[in-house]
Amino acid sequence: MKCAACSRKVAQGDNRYCHYHSQALAGLKQHYIAWTDAYGTISWNDFLCRLVPLNETGSWVNEVIAVEMDAGVGCARIGKR
Ligand SMILES: [Zn+2]
Repeated sequence: MKCAACSRKVAQGDNRYCHYHSQALAGLKQHYIAWTDAYGTISWNDFLCRLVPLNETGSWVNEVIAVEMDAGVGCARIGKR
């Protein structure tokens, strides 16, 4: 099995991502939990959409976001106006 975000093998115990992208996703999920604690409910996809413009997110994280968002519903509802 290949990682969903790159061509590395998936990590042991993970069925979707390699070690690096799996760690990036774990960091994202921690961030997501902290966000919902602080600001209230937000969907996973909307959370990812909000991160996209943030330049400080690392490239591993950006690659995971790209994969996760492809599986989601897109960002049409988030203020691009
Ligand atoms: Zn990967």
